[in-house]
Amino acid sequence: MEPFTNDRLQLPRNMIENSMFEEEPDVVDLAKEPCLHPLEPDEVEYEPRGSRLLVRGLGEHELDEDEEDYESSAKLLGMSFMNRSSGLRNSAAGYRQNSDGTCPAPSARTIGVCVCIILLAVAIILAIYFLPRCTFTKEGCHKKNQPTEPIQPIATNGKLFPWAQIRLPTAVTPVRYDLTLHPNLTSMTFRGSVTISLQALQATWNIILHSTGHNISRVTFMTAVSSQEKEVDVLEYPVHEQIAIVAPETLLEGHNYTLKIEYSANISSSYYGFYGISYRDESNEKKYFAATQFEPLAARSAFPCFDEPAFKATFVIRIKRDEQYTALSNMPKKSSVVLEDGLVQDEFFESVKMSTYLVAFIVGELKNLSQDVNGTLVSIYAVPEKIGQVQHALETTVKLLDFYQSYFEIQYPLKKLDLVAIPDFEAGAMENWGLLTFREETLLYDANTSSVADRKLVTKIIAHELAHQWFGNLVTMQWWNDVWLNEGFATFMEYFSLEKIFGELSSYEDFLDARFKTMKKDSLNSSHPISSSSVESSEQIEEMFDSLSYFKGASLLLMLKTYLSEDIFQHAIILYLHNHSYTSIHSDDLWDSFNEFTNKTLDVKKMMRTWTLQKGFPLVTVQRKGKQILLQQERFSLNVKPEIQPSDASSLWHIPLSYITDGKNYSKHRSVSLLDKKSGVINLTEEVQWIKVNTNMTGYYIVHYADDNWEALIKQLKINPYVLSDKDRANLINNIFELAGLGKVSLQRAFDLIDYLRNETYTAPISEALLQTELIYNLLDKLGHVDLASRLVNKVFKLLQSQIQQQTWTDEGTPSTRELRSVLLDFACAHRLENCSAAALKLFFDWMASNGTQSLPTDVMTTVFKAGAKTEGGWSFLLSKYVSLGSEAEKNKILEALASSEDVRKLYWLMKNSLDGDLIRTQKLSFIIRTVARHFPGHLLAWDFVKENWSKLVQKFHLGSYTIQSIVAGSTHLFATKAHLSEVQAFFENQSEATFRLRCVQEALEVIQLNMQWVEKNLKTLTYWL
Ligand SMILES: [Zn+2]
Repeated sequence: MEPFTNDRLQLPRNMIENSMFEEEPDVVDLAKEPCLHPLEPDEVEYEPRGSRLLVRGLGEHELDEDEEDYESSAKLLGMSFMNRSSGLRNSAAGYRQNSDGTCPAPSARTIGVCVCIILLAVAIILAIYFLPRCTFTKEGCHKKNQPTEPIQPIATNGKLFPWAQIRLPTAVTPVRYDLTLHPNLTSMTFRGSVTISLQALQATWNIILHSTGHNISRVTFMTAVSSQEKEVDVLEYPVHEQIAIVAPETLLEGHNYTLKIEYSANISSSYYGFYGISYRDESNEKKYFAATQFEPLAARSAFPCFDEPAFKATFVIRIKRDEQYTALSNMPKKSSVVLEDGLVQDEFFESVKMSTYLVAFIVGELKNLSQDVNGTLVSIYAVPEKIGQVQHALETTVKLLDFYQSYFEIQYPLKKLDLVAIPDFEAGAMENWGLLTFREETLLYDANTSSVADRKLVTKIIAHELAHQWFGNLVTMQWWNDVWLNEGFATFMEYFSLEKIFGELSSYEDFLDARFKTMKKDSLNSSHPISSSSVESSEQIEEMFDSLSYFKGASLLLMLKTYLSEDIFQHAIILYLHNHSYTSIHSDDLWDSFNEFTNKTLDVKKMMRTWTLQKGFPLVTVQRKGKQILLQQERFSLNVKPEIQPSDASSLWHIPLSYITDGKNYSKHRSVSLLDKKSGVINLTEEVQWIKVNTNMTGYYIVHYADDNWEALIKQLKINPYVLSDKDRANLINNIFELAGLGKVSLQRAFDLIDYLRNETYTAPISEALLQTELIYNLLDKLGHVDLASRLVNKVFKLLQSQIQQQTWTDEGTPSTRELRSVLLDFACAHRLENCSAAALKLFFDWMASNGTQSLPTDVMTTVFKAGAKTEGGWSFLLSKYVSLGSEAEKNKILEALASSEDVRKLYWLMKNSLDGDLIRTQKLSFIIRTVARHFPGHLLAWDFVKENWSKLVQKFHLGSYTIQSIVAGSTHLFATKAHLSEVQAFFENQSEATFRLRCVQEALEVIQLNMQWVEKNLKTLTYWL
């Protein structure tokens, strides 16, 4: 999945420390059901904490010496409970059916059994009651009280539900789903029937699977032997979105069974599950459309299923539809039959073996453009009036498909590959196998209005989703804690493939920028390891889809590729894909594939675990001493009180160190060595003036130099910056500003370094300098230090004046120079420098006079619209165009301009309208909120809006989702006062514990504190020398 990318990494200036956000301790797994598979060591580590149900509410207690005994007791208790609720089903029939615990038909024997059961139950309750509190956590009690939850789950009909964990048991596994759906797009309901072929891996009585929001009308069960359908009971436990089918007989190990479930449900009005939307076509006629978005946990809302990524199966899908609609699913269409009632039923071929979150279907009015690529039919679908914008996507997909097939040495296994532009879609895109879904703006390209940035966006997202067909679809992570294996790889391949086949787009600049922003987020205390062991609840799963899984994952792969060589990297991932096709894996399976190629000279698993199992990244300090280079590593932490995080002192990474120097032996080639201790030494063969470590910033770490080396580098940049690559120059700018935040270098020295920018012509260093200084500007501006903020702008303007003056209002040049133009003119117009605004306004009024028909240069279109939106007539005209235009690329530029208005009433109207999904689709809301919050007039308004509408927002976008993360960060990251800190904290505390504990909420609070401390530390210095 690609979360929406536009401005998605807007991260705050975070400087100092925060100690209040400790991670929740892991809880030892207690109650493994005896019929579960034996677990691999890793599975034990990642075993979810469903067993907490058994110990929650017991209160607080320090661990004592008898911890192990209590754990054993707990395991026994858990097992005893699980046996009671599943294994002893027959003998406990009375117990199950009478929730008050009484026994029917009291024969003497039964009474005896009852007494025994009651005595045993009392003993268990007493044992639990008297056990020390918090016995079962690894690290003792969490400081907050856990909410009390029932020990045994009760189904909706009042009976005991036989499974207490969030994760499903593995005694039964699905083999094949046969799914028939009949959606009604006007009543927004659907009827469904799913037949699941199952295999029992162990003897069991119950079949536990996922289902939510279904009205189940009939469930039948059939054994392979008798082939006689028997109607059976179903128990529902909505808390865990699970149902339990009580089998009429024991399911025997190795035997096959069939379950058929008939049900009905509503088509969702959110963006999750099987959801419906309406839109107006070009003749303003209302149209209906239904699509799916299942990742991570919503397949269960479309059909009852084993909704965990490791339960792979095949799928046969049938869809009944009205004649005018097209139905699409993962596989090619097998047949279309006209039914008696005039409806058409499409049946799709049986799928390859895959996870439930990859299943997809779409019903809507669509057109397509197709091309055959060696036996695979590639098609781009859009609503009919937008079919003219699909050509670019088709050409791009064909090239990328070809590239991936030969790079991975594995053919794409399906006969077709559809990419569909959905009129309303929350994520950026989704990689459903064979049926990739996109927002219109991430798939469609309009030559007249799409900028070079738009072209890059479309190309990158197609590359990302296509890479998932191998990384994620063919080989899948076992569980969501390792979602970086999907997303980190797809993100890495997105940049890698673009560099290989669309080199002219200079996508490395975007990857570099993304790495800088990711490290900023990863340096917070609220960060997390990308391979995390404590992921279980739906919020925790949603939260794993954050920029760390995507970009830290991709950055680590880039570092590894650079260290091992491109050749070894490719061979290892080919092996990995071949060995694990159609199965699911852990991170270690990936590292094992690499170890096959390193000939025992390097343990890749040992090395990479230091990066994936720890949060944060290292700060490497470099000192020159004659021919020796002394190196030290420590965690780069914005925490200024290291004693609060003693565990960080032991942080150690295995760092591939690359470097160049001005010495003649080192300037031409990159040198690499591995720093796997706290400190190390590199012996050079000659003395050098300067050394630059982390060549091209391929390593995921920040470098600090002793004073004389910083001086020498600054001097070198002034004399001739081009001795270093543009990536290195951008890297130095990034590192020195981050170090200034940490107090390791003075802010003045950071500005001294960017003084060379007068001679800079490349995009990456200028963009990074503008980003760093813009963050400072934003803080000063929002705190009302108007004079200081404008002095800062003047300082930066003087550095970039000549480059700004050279810009023209055209689309000429390479993609990189076009993007630089866009950045520079936007900066100049935003701060009313040179004659930027006047030039932009002239273009705007000419465009307005032509009723929007005159073409504008696409790269500066947003800047032109922003100038126009500041005028009364301009804003209204832009809004009228927004409503009527057919190009999403142009509409987005207009929307950004509308949301940059200085009129708060207009800003409020925009947010409100987008929340209602009236003229502006709700998919754009987080973008609008972030844009409104960035500028002075709207930054308080945006937060007020979020508070006012919080419940609607989480209903629409789900707690923990990428959109919610983006809204929380976007509306709070420029706050820098105590009053705001208290307010944000109080607001989220008053919601629910789950809300307050969201990582994005903790991050928001940490960022506000860091902002406050940054201002406190630097305001005086800035006043003095700016
Ligand atoms: Zn993805």
